[in-house]
Amino acid sequence: MTVRVGVLALQGDTREHLAALTEAGAQACTVRRLAELDSVDALVIPGGESTVMSHLLREFELLEPLRARLADGMPAYGSCAGMILLATEILDAGVPGREALALRGIDMTVRRNAFGRQVDSFEESIPFAGLDSDVHAVFIRAPWVERVGESVEVLATAAGHPVAVRQGKVLATSFHPEVTGDRRVHRMFVDSLR
Ligand code: GLN
Repeated sequence: MTVRVGVLALQGDTREHLAALTEAGAQACTVRRLAELDSVDALVIPGGESTVMSHLLREFELLEPLRARLADGMPAYGSCAGMILLATEILDAGVPGREALALRGIDMTVRRNAFGRQVDSFEESIPFAGLDSDVHAVFIRAPWVERVGESVEVLATAAGHPVAVRQGKVLATSFHPEVTGDRRVHRMFVDSLR
């Protein structure tokens, strides 16, 4: 069975996720409107800028519908800015009150831009639970996870903090597998939908 996976296409590295999902065997499409959100089995929230994305979610009247679908069990995957948006609590959110925009897909507290200015961006090969060899992780002004709820699995860590987590069918990574040629993380997500 082919699963239809949307990529939230308000801002960010949408194209890379569309390509990765297609290569991982999903039918991938962009989501900008409510009707498009309604048509997908699962959603990817890309990397980009979480402040801009959350503003646009509100402008496009997608914030509440998306939150409702997540509460209803829609599977999702967020990378970097997408991880930030999927949290229940955001630290260093940048704009006061923006925590209210958290989509609450995973019971976790995420710190935005956590790796600090000196190491804004870096790459590291890290073990990833369920994958047979290390993943080459690209971190770009990445968040890390500071707290996870009981039902959240930690799949990978860097600098002593979780950087890949899963709760049920909602997955999040601080890094960007979509910018490498390695499709194993996307395949893990797509396979979990079948
Ligand atoms: N620092 C960005 C934010 O706060 C995330 C960076 C990224 O997605 N590469 O949204």
